[in-house]
Amino acid sequence: MSGTAHTQHFAPPAPLAGGAKNLIGMSRAEMEDAVRALGEPDFRARQLWHWVYHRGATGFEAMTSLSKPFRALLAANFTIGRPEVASAQVSSDGTRKWLLRFADGQEVETVFIPQEERGTLCISSQVGCTLTCRFCHTGTQRLVRNLSTAEIVSQIMLARDEVGEWPASSADRKITNIVLMGMGEPLYNFDNVAQAMKIAMDPEGLSFSRRKITLSTSGVVPMMARCGAELGVNLAVSLHAVRDEVRDVIVPLNKKYPIAALLDACRAYPGTHNARRITFEYVMLRGINDSAEDARALAGLLKDIPAKVNLIPFNAWPGVAYECSKATDIAAFSDILAAAGVSAPIRAPRGRDILAACGQLKSAGQRLKKSDREASAAEVTA
Ligand code: SAH
Ligand code: SF4
Repeated sequence: MSGTAHTQHFAPPAPLAGGAKNLIGMSRAEMEDAVRALGEPDFRARQLWHWVYHRGATGFEAMTSLSKPFRALLAANFTIGRPEVASAQVSSDGTRKWLLRFADGQEVETVFIPQEERGTLCISSQVGCTLTCRFCHTGTQRLVRNLSTAEIVSQIMLARDEVGEWPASSADRKITNIVLMGMGEPLYNFDNVAQAMKIAMDPEGLSFSRRKITLSTSGVVPMMARCGAELGVNLAVSLHAVRDEVRDVIVPLNKKYPIAALLDACRAYPGTHNARRITFEYVMLRGINDSAEDARALAGLLKDIPAKVNLIPFNAWPGVAYECSKATDIAAFSDILAAAGVSAPIRAPRGRDILAACGQLKSAGQRLKKSDREASAAEVTA
């Protein structure tokens, strides 16, 4: 096959108005529109979808089932680039962290946690976070914006590039699970998160089952029903306290949506049953939320909800005012829950040495002033 013979038959394609657009992040309908605008039938959009999301093509030349003229037309009008990797780190425990830089210079972190029986990719939904949970590094970042659908999807695609597992359906995948537990509050960026997860769940796309995707929220109550109805992914809720007085301080969103309202939304979350429980995340903060009384109260709060509790040893970051609970207190807390019939494993911290563990992610921006942090810690202990 001679490239020159073909190229003689058509002039180099001129881009349509509006400049080159990124194909990554497009829904099926958007890709069909894009292909139609180039004068091609809808089935070409399905082929293109397959190349982009299922095969992970990073250029148009590789799309050999498409004609050369069409590939040239696509190349003139679209891009399928990945974000720039500003830095890549590997922890002594095998956890990998990528700092990704987007076109406007903003950065987010994506973390891959390989385990024996699965591999979890922790992705971000926002640059920074508008919520200011007192124990969370991300919450101290002042600069915040939503990630686009493209920026969310491309975290998964970049990780697949790095781990080397295209096509998406390949056997023995290393990335088996996705958790929206990186930077940001996913339910504050629901539309983009939803479109991204639909691409992630498409069997001809990135091909993750909704059962392998978990969205973690700090408790944006009015969005939880939509999340359940439109995505049906597993839900994780950052509870962290059993009394409003404490939660108001460490998760300030609680002042808007208190514990009772949050638990009602959990009870109403569709598809929840004993085989598919809601995960309640509970960060263990010494002297703040880790007493035996707290553990008993937690078991009481969850008694009519199919729930499991994930006890997260607090991960410190430079300058934070809190300390992690003592190991014996965490174990006792777990035992009390287990005795009450609530499974409460202690999450093994991963990637601490590269600041990749829960709540340590932060890309840029300023930290809170030391005096602010001391004031907030005093508020809780008071
Ligand atoms: N914004 C969402 C998802 C991202 S945070 C949410 O808050 O649920 C993912 C989890 O890490 C949350 O449960 C969060 O509370 C927890 N976390 C935050 N900072 C932490 C820290 N320093 N140590 C341990 N866990 C932390
Ligand atoms: Fe935002 Fe979640 Fe951190 Fe709270 S814990 S500040 S909601 S990222």
